[in-house]
Amino acid sequence: MPLHDPHGRHIRKLRVQLTDACNFRCFYCMPEGTRFQPSNRLLSPEEIGDICAALETMGVEEIRVTGGEPTVRPEFDAIMEKLARIPWKKFGLTTNGFLLSDKLPLLRDLGCGHINVSLDSLVEGKFRTITGSAHFQKVHAAILRAKAMGFQVKVNAIVFRGINDDELPAFLDFSAEHGVEVRFLELMRVGPAIGEHDERFVAAREMMDRLGATDALIPVESPNDSTSFGFRTARGARIGFIASESKPFCGACSRLRLSATGKLRSCLFSDTGVELRGRDRLDYPEILQEVMALKPTGRLPRIHQPMNQIGG
Ligand code: SAM
Ligand code: SF4
Repeated sequence: MPLHDPHGRHIRKLRVQLTDACNFRCFYCMPEGTRFQPSNRLLSPEEIGDICAALETMGVEEIRVTGGEPTVRPEFDAIMEKLARIPWKKFGLTTNGFLLSDKLPLLRDLGCGHINVSLDSLVEGKFRTITGSAHFQKVHAAILRAKAMGFQVKVNAIVFRGINDDELPAFLDFSAEHGVEVRFLELMRVGPAIGEHDERFVAAREMMDRLGATDALIPVESPNDSTSFGFRTARGARIGFIASESKPFCGACSRLRLSATGKLRSCLFSDTGVELRGRDRLDYPEILQEVMALKPTGRLPRIHQPMNQIGG
C-alpha cells in the first residue's frame, strides 16, 4: 500500500543511519571534539532488520544506509545482511569510501548495488584539508573498483567557494573519463556548516553557468522525487546538482529517516520524531501517521544538529 503524508506526498524512501561515528572529520559536518553515541545506545542489527522490514511492508520501497560513516560500525556486515533479506526496489549505501574496497564483494553478493561516495576534491592536499584524512588515493581507487565491478556509483561533491570551486571542470573530466556520475551539492545550513555558509556557499546556478561555459549541459530526465537534477555532456560526463538551499525539493520529498538510536523522523531539518525502539509493530501505522504529520511542507532554514548525528 503506498504511503502518503497529509499533504499527499508519496513517502517511499528510507535513510538508515547505522552510527554517528566516523573515521573522517569533514570540517562542515562534524564539530571539533565530537563525542559519539555509546555503542549500547545504538539499535542492534536485529532491531534495525525488524524495524526496516516492518516499514517495507507498510510501503517504503527504497533504502539507503548512511551515517556518520556506516562502514565503521563493527556490525556493518551483519546489518547489511539483514537488510538484504527485505525486498527493496533499491538498496543503496552512502559512504566516504575509506573502507569501501574491502566491502565491495559483500555488497555485490547482497545486491546493494547503488553506492554514493563523498569525494569533495580530486586534489590530495585539498581532500586532506576538507576531510582530515590523508587517504585520497584509497577513496579514489575504491570508486573506480566499484565502477569496474558493475555498481551504480555516484560521487557526491559539496562545492565550497575558495576551496574546491576551481575543480568543477576537473570533476566533469573525471565523470567523462570514468563513466561515474558526479553530483554537486550546495552547502546546506546544517551544524558546523552554518558558520561557514556566508563565505563558502556556491549556488547550483553559478556552478551550472561556470560548467556551461566550456561544455553544453544537456538536461536528463529524473524521477519527480529526485533530490537532484541531471545533465550530460557531449564528452560523456553525467552530472547532477543537489540544490537544497537555492531550489529546495520539499514539495516532492519522499523520505523518512531512521536514526542509529531508533528515532524515526520525517525531515533532515527537523529533530522531531518518534522513538521506535521497543514499540510494538501493531503501533506502526499510528506512529507512521504521526511522523508523516510532522513533515514540514516547506524548507526550514537551518538545523544546528550536526550532519553526522542527523544521518546524512
Ligand atoms: N560518511 C558518509 C559520507 O560522507 O558519504 C555518509 C554520511 S555524510 C553525513 C552524507 C552526506 O552528507 C555526504 O555526502 C556529505 O558531504 C553530506 N553533507 C554533510 N554535511 C553537509 C552540508 N552541510 N551540506 C551539504 N551536504 C552535507
Ligand atoms: Fe564523516 Fe561523512 Fe561527515 Fe565527512 S561527511 S565527517 S565522512 S560523516
